[in-house]
Amino acid sequence: MKLVFATNNPNKLSELQALVPQGIEILSLTDINCNDELPETNPTLEGNALQKAQYVYQSYGFNCFADDTGLEIEALGGAPGVYSARYAGEDCMAEDNMHKVLTKLENEDNRNAKFRTVIALIIKGEENLFEGECSGKITKTKSGVEGFGYDPIFIPEGHGITFAEMSKQVKGAISHRGKAVKQLVGFLHR
Ligand code: IMP
Repeated sequence: MKLVFATNNPNKLSELQALVPQGIEILSLTDINCNDELPETNPTLEGNALQKAQYVYQSYGFNCFADDTGLEIEALGGAPGVYSARYAGEDCMAEDNMHKVLTKLENEDNRNAKFRTVIALIIKGEENLFEGECSGKITKTKSGVEGFGYDPIFIPEGHGITFAEMSKQVKGAISHRGKAVKQLVGFLHR
């Protein structure tokens, strides 16, 4: 089975390719000659994941899926949440977002946070949603060079190192995206 992963994020693509079993071939947007910026203007992860998948399905006609992820920080009332990508402003970099989080939490003891991923799958026009969560803590300083986004400042529960200090395989086994993908794969094999 071939499925397009509707993402322009090469890190997400390589995480996904390491997670799905043989028999499910993941195509990138480049593979289908799509160079478009995908729309994500919804106020929810569910809405954005569906919006990105619908865009690719309707414009290119491929069975596909998209994910949308947010980092929800308890002491910040769930922020940045669905606005995680642009937390420090339009066109900001991961470094800016992490800096903003660390500054906001400077005098805060409650470091609890969780990543939440929603995957929207569209096969022959039929839509399905899958969700995965990973709880953990925000560090005081950045650590590690693997992964992407907020990985250097997030330690998943039960572990002593950040996502950015883990291999793709170890992160995938416990991460929000890994859990959502497990559900997706289970659904495809039902
Ligand atoms: P989106 O799902 O691409 O909209 O991602 C929202 C924001 O969360 C972006 O800033 C990403 O870099 C970040 N993000 C998404 N997934 C992860 C992850 O697995 N680890 C760390 N940051 C992530």
